[in-house]
Amino acid sequence: MGCIKSGIMGQIVGDALGLPVQFISRDERDLDPVTDMRGYGAFDMPPGSWSDDSSLILATMDGLSESLKMANHEENLRLHESIDYEMIMKNFSAWLNEGEFTPYGYAYDIGGATMDGIGRYDNGCEAILSGGIGERDNGNGSLMRILPIAFYIYYLSQRYLFDDVEKMGAAHDLSSLTHRHKRSQIACGIYVRIALEFIENHEKELNLTLEELIENGIRKSKEYYQNLNSFKGELHHFDRVFSLNIQNLSRDEIKSGGYCISSLEASIWCLLNNANYKDTVLAAVNLGYDTDTTACIVGGLGGIYYGLEDIPSDWIEELAKLDYIYDIVNEFDNEISEIID
Ligand SMILES: [Mg+2]
Repeated sequence: MGCIKSGIMGQIVGDALGLPVQFISRDERDLDPVTDMRGYGAFDMPPGSWSDDSSLILATMDGLSESLKMANHEENLRLHESIDYEMIMKNFSAWLNEGEFTPYGYAYDIGGATMDGIGRYDNGCEAILSGGIGERDNGNGSLMRILPIAFYIYYLSQRYLFDDVEKMGAAHDLSSLTHRHKRSQIACGIYVRIALEFIENHEKELNLTLEELIENGIRKSKEYYQNLNSFKGELHHFDRVFSLNIQNLSRDEIKSGGYCISSLEASIWCLLNNANYKDTVLAAVNLGYDTDTTACIVGGLGGIYYGLEDIPSDWIEELAKLDYIYDIVNEFDNEISEIID
């Protein structure tokens, strides 16, 4: 499953590149653009440190691996029944409360909605009902950790038949652990739909362009949501995404704060205006503000598209606890291979 590793490493490298300059404005970035792995800054961490984004991605993959071990591998495996959301949320709680899935044994850079969702779970709430449903609960905290489900859906679809309701429902449910508002769910759904196109392009060597892949993913997700009454009221927030014109917007029109729509738009804009992994993630970091998360979100798709060999190897080797990251990625990869081989 070649592109699991390239996608996940693309995300973690993006997170680590952005972390030291998180919260800092675009104007300041323009005066001092990031061109290489830095350290210290926002959380005073050494170079190669990764944050909540990567921790929750690793926690998700570990939970999905456990789910696959427990799943009944019969002929009629249903997607939603195969995923143990309680297991994933237990991992999120272990991250926040016990420092599991972190570089240095404690959690840092914790988003508000994520903390609230885990708090509800710790107080007895069912995992998929733990996320906030307020309009202000639409940060990018679920979008940044959603990519593993795209791999899970794509590869299990090689053996089992899942319809779009199941596929998009899995993205929505995984978002809902911390972000249950429909806007966050749709942002995750669109991103996963695009990621599925990227993964297929890699696996089937289709050699489609970034424009074609992103357009296909957006078009399919638009068709999906337009037919669902329960999501209709939220769709106008995605007008710029659905218009397929993000690439042509000026940099000033692209926001890079912590709002899920901004991060989705920024990641599409960075991908379509750059031609390799390095330039794509650096463009995301140099938008300023929520630098680690924007670069993490764009880095996942960039990693899948350009491949592991296009991610600078010195950036990968600089990552904290690299062997630990590889162990979790490899286990996820192996559990998927066991099912579909
Ligand atoms: Mg972070």
